[in-house]
Amino acid sequence: MNDNAVIAIHGGAGTILRASLSASAEAEYHAALHAVLAAGQRVLADGGSALDAVSEAVRLLEDCPLFNAGIGAVYTAAGTHELDAAIMDGSTLEAGAICCVKRVRNPVLAARRVLECSEHVLFTGEGAESFAAAQGLEFVEPQYFDTEARHRQWLLARDQQRAMLDHDGATLAASPSATDNSDPMPHEPIDPNRKFGTVGAVALDRHGHVAAATSTGGVTNKQVGRVGDTPLIGAGCYADDATCAVSTTGSGEMFMRMVAAYDVAAQMAYRNVSLHEAAHDVVMNRLPKIDGRGGLIAVDALGNIALPFNTEGMYRGFARLGEAPTTAIYR
Ligand code: ASP
Repeated sequence: MNDNAVIAIHGGAGTILRASLSASAEAEYHAALHAVLAAGQRVLADGGSALDAVSEAVRLLEDCPLFNAGIGAVYTAAGTHELDAAIMDGSTLEAGAICCVKRVRNPVLAARRVLECSEHVLFTGEGAESFAAAQGLEFVEPQYFDTEARHRQWLLARDQQRAMLDHDGATLAASPSATDNSDPMPHEPIDPNRKFGTVGAVALDRHGHVAAATSTGGVTNKQVGRVGDTPLIGAGCYADDATCAVSTTGSGEMFMRMVAAYDVAAQMAYRNVSLHEAAHDVVMNRLPKIDGRGGLIAVDALGNIALPFNTEGMYRGFARLGEAPTTAIYR
């Protein structure tokens, strides 16, 4: 049995300035991340698979309205929610993903069923929902995903006629210029009452296997039918025991163009660099070249972890067996 078992999670990256987050809001985030890590840690301690640990962690993050996945998802330009998720097993390279679902309570569980019960990898929209229904997964009314904070954020983004990362949407929402037509100030502190973030988890289990899962509502005011990096294997999610497991968050279009998650694994395989070096290169060097903003979490088969981000903050944490979970928001 491997004693290096570890789980890491993220709840999105973006413009999160310390001055803007009240002590109680900050504590709420830390508590939520801590609880999710503790649950994932229990799965691993009991000898559960990395796949089980990341599914459970992401399911819990989806059920937490603090984050932009499941309940609390951002709004599309039509005022609806379209959810995306992916999961990958590093021991088999099996993967499952769904996108543009509107009524599946936990998209990550649907992605997991695709991995386990389908010969396909990615289902979209109605087909994804039919598949999830046939698998007996829980459905909810589309309004289940509504939250007041996200709705306010969407109205402001719509007035500005732009799509944006939820965190940047928060920036806009907090900007004094939010109701006029000028550009939002990119580094304005976020409103502490508005809570944001795509979610993901990576884990190494006691059997030496890695897995990754990512889930999102996407970006605020996105066009209906827009799909980002999250459900694309290699862009927002990737896992291979031979290298690492990766889950990303940030400006999805750039992560897609950079095939960001896979690039971390590929650099380890082809350049023979460490997890840290590969993850750092993708986030700090390669993504910024095309204005890619965000971060990722990654773990390798030795239990090394990397959690780089090129934004002001990223909700994140990790937990090793027998140790208290560590959580962080800022640099
Ligand atoms: N990467 C996600 C997307 O583009 C958004 C995020 O991470 O906040 O859909």
